Amino acid sequence: MVGPLIGAIEAGGTKIVCAVASSLEEILEVEPHVVATTDPFATIGEVLDYFAPFAASGDLAAIGIGSFGPVDHPTTTVTRTTPKVAWRGFHWGQAIRPVLDDLPIGFDTDANAAVLAEATFGAGRGDAIVVYVTVGTGIGGGIAIDGQPLHGLLHSELGHMVVPRDPADVFSGSCPHHGDCLEGLASGAAMAARWGQPAETLQSGHRAFDLEATYLTAMCVTITTMLAPSRIVLGGGVAAVPGLLSEVQQRTAASLNGYLALDRYTTGIEDYIVRPLLTGRSGITGAWLLGRNALEASALGEQRP
Ligand code: ZN
Repeated sequence: MVGPLIGAIEAGGTKIVCAVASSLEEILEVEPHVVATTDPFATIGEVLDYFAPFAASGDLAAIGIGSFGPVDHPTTTVTRTTPKVAWRGFHWGQAIRPVLDDLPIGFDTDANAAVLAEATFGAGRGDAIVVYVTVGTGIGGGIAIDGQPLHGLLHSELGHMVVPRDPADVFSGSCPHHGDCLEGLASGAAMAARWGQPAETLQSGHRAFDLEATYLTAMCVTITTMLAPSRIVLGGGVAAVPGLLSEVQQRTAASLNGYLALDRYTTGIEDYIVRPLLTGRSGITGAWLLGRNALEASALGEQRP
């Protein structure tokens, strides 16, 4: 079904992906415009240059933003605890106002955008609780309940959960806030620091991935025991390394040891911990959905942040 034109921004730590589309089919196919994430002024200038013609034509009806975090969701602000120093206090709503004035804005974290997409149209479609975790340079995660991203006082920060350290692992951890939290031990940045080479150059048989499976298993066990979700979707470049997903599936089932007596967590584990269905498109599709939801909310009289 074709509707009004909606803009989408998926803002990551290294790149910002922009797209416009008038339907789900289009956002899944469209060639996005990619801007490098540098300082806010230059980056947003390029982002707005992309959207300007669509805004000028009057065809753009709403904008959805999935941003790297941490963010203050109600005010669309990147918090002052972000390690990206130049972006501390960055206010998305104000920053895009010069070109996208008055448009309804849908806003959430990039991980919550991704879980929204996967829970709506992807690997977790129709599931009651879906958890999306991306394991790339960093580790981010979002939770969707009945198709809606979960918000507490803030958003969840699954990447910073505590996992038991492997006794043989002497790496101190790379998280600037916690040292050896999950992200500090198992992110692509942690792998690069521990092994002295970029994670993407490690061969698939490298013992780095045995250790990686240990930490991602601990994560999956914790998520499972806490939420009993229908699906854990593992995205990101590190999680895509051949053999790693299968290892995490088998070890998670073994670690749970049948205590959660459900096929999903035992013999059905391969349908439980899965790759994204919207491969490489979860974030931008989710951002587009955030925009579409904002447009629907504005029709009901809700105010832009
Ligand atoms: Zn941390």
